[in-house]
Amino acid sequence: MNIEDYKCQFCGQTAKNFVFAAFTCEKEECIEAARKERGGPGGHMKRKAEGHPVIRFDD
Ligand SMILES: [Zn+2]
Repeated sequence: MNIEDYKCQFCGQTAKNFVFAAFTCEKEECIEAARKERGGPGGHMKRKAEGHPVIRFDD
């Protein structure tokens, strides 16, 4: 998997990280958005159910 083939899920820039089960760029606000999204009801299990990858590099 090449992270830079993906885009930040929050601002659309080239992804640099895969954190909290989301692709993000390097901006703290996007990483924080991923953290909040994952922390919601269902968290990454909901994402898994939707067919998205659940690989985590950072927890
Ligand atoms: Zn971003």
